[in-house]
Formats: sequence, C-alpha cells, structure tokens
Amino acid sequence: MLILNLLIYSQGMVLAYAAESKTPDWLQYADGKEEEEVTEEERLEQEKLEQWREKKKNIKVPILLYHHITNDELTEENSISLISPYDFRLHMTAIKTNFTPISLRQYYEYVVCDDGSVDIPSNPIIITFDDGYSSNYELGYPILKELNIPATIFVVTDTVGAVAGEGKVNYSHFTWEQAREMEASGLIEIQSHTVSHVKVDELNFAEQVRQLRKSKYDIEKNLGHKCDMIAFPYGHYDENVKRIAKNSGYDVQLLVDDKTLESDYEVNLPSEGLENLTRMTIAGNMGNVNVIEIIRRTMSKKEIK
Ligand SMILES: [Zn+2]
Repeated sequence: MLILNLLIYSQGMVLAYAAESKTPDWLQYADGKEEEEVTEEERLEQEKLEQWREKKKNIKVPILLYHHITNDELTEENSISLISPYDFRLHMTAIKTNFTPISLRQYYEYVVCDDGSVDIPSNPIIITFDDGYSSNYELGYPILKELNIPATIFVVTDTVGAVAGEGKVNYSHFTWEQAREMEASGLIEIQSHTVSHVKVDELNFAEQVRQLRKSKYDIEKNLGHKCDMIAFPYGHYDENVKRIAKNSGYDVQLLVDDKTLESDYEVNLPSEGLENLTRMTIAGNMGNVNVIEIIRRTMSKKEIK
C-alpha cells in the first residue's frame, strides 16, 4: 500500500515538473544552489592561470654580480671584482641580445604573486652591483641607460660618497645625490650591503642589529623609499643573521656566490622563495661570449624539483 502510494506520488511529481518546468527536487537537494556552467571567458582565465603557474614552476633566473668598473689593469686577484668599461659594455650588449633583463624588484613581485597578475619575460636575467662605487655611476649607469637595462646596487652606507685616498676606501663611492639621480631614471634601485662591509655573522648581536638596521635607516632617509633587500658582504651570514634581517624588514636576502669556480654558480627558481637568492660573480676577465656560455651552462645544470 505504501509502495503504491509512493509510485503515484512520484509520477505526480514528474508530471508536475513537466508541466511547470520547475527545478526537480534532486537538483536542489544539496544546498539549494544550482550549478553554474563556466563561461568561455572564465575558462580562458583558468587556462591562462594554469599556463602562468607552469611557467613559474619551470623558469630559471640568473642573477649576475658586478663590482667596480675601471680601466686599471686586471691581475689574478682583482679580476674577480673589476671589469673594464669596454668589457662591461660587451657583456651588457650580449646579455641584452640573449636574455631579457628584469629588475630584482620585478622578480620579487613575481615570486610573491600567486594569482597570475605579475609576469616576467620567459628568458629573464637580473643585474646587480655591490659596494656602490663611483664607477657604477660614471661608467656603468650610462651604458645601462643606453641599453635600457635595470640594475640593483647594494651600497655600503658608511662609504657612500667616500673618496679614494682619504683613508676609507680604495676606490671612490658614489654620493647620495648621484644615487638619487640614478634612481630617478627608474632603472636603478639602491639597497643595503650593510653599514661598513663586514662579515655580519662574526659580529656580536648588538653590532649585527646595527649593521642591518642602520644601513636600512640611512637608505630610507636619504633615498625616500623602502629598503627591503640586503646582500651580505662576502656571502657571510647564518640563521641568526637571517632572522635579524627578516625582523628588520628585509624580505629579500642575497647571497654572494663569491667563489670563482663556475661549478659553484647557481641560478634561482621562484619556488625557492626570496631568502636564499644566489648570484654569479662575474669576473672582468670573462669574455662576453664566455659569460653567456657560463650562464647557459649554469642554467642547464639546475634541476626543477
Ligand atoms: Zn661587497
């Protein structure tokens, strides 16, 4: 009797549904909401996001490190930190031909992005300088401007404006005024390389804090923008230094891969984050063709996990 009633009831429902075109009960059962079909536009958006994620997983990013640009004769010792303006131009021209230079800031924004709104070119490369030599302003900056190549310069804040031969430095360093002029171009960004170019991990706690916080303060006060990147001199740091840097407001920490062996060079993956960025120290005696080959070999040995 009960079964018969149900059958009659359900038949009645079907008839009613057919007549009134109402949403059937089973469709409303879960939460009362109807399923919505993705629009073509949404589907394309999803596809784009997937492609963006795939690229971000696979892209390898070399960061190059230069120091002083000079016509001084290169020796075995100083060739790691000196390059002639002639060779620097050749390097930059070769890099511009083979890669698309981006700023460290662009890379930073790309790494922290997860919604596909920030992108970088598929063959990126990043140029950086350490210490803050006048030659960066006098010889490097004009070449970078001409070729439209962005760069980040990590300065030792106590030697900004220091003149060679006056006791503080071997090579003159650019002034805050020159730093402001370079930054106004939109191509150059100045960040911290500590107060006095020290091995931060070998200092006592108070001095470690001063090296990180005072250099940040001086940059922010003199240049009027956030200082959130630091390159540790000599690549010296440890977990404590990293913690102090993080607490001081440094989001990006660069390691100097200051070994001269190509086998030690590495490139960066966005999936590895921003705290252990690695750089390739470019020596002045590497020819421009050789530099490109070294970068390519370093990229090819890096495995995507
Ligand atoms: Zn340095």
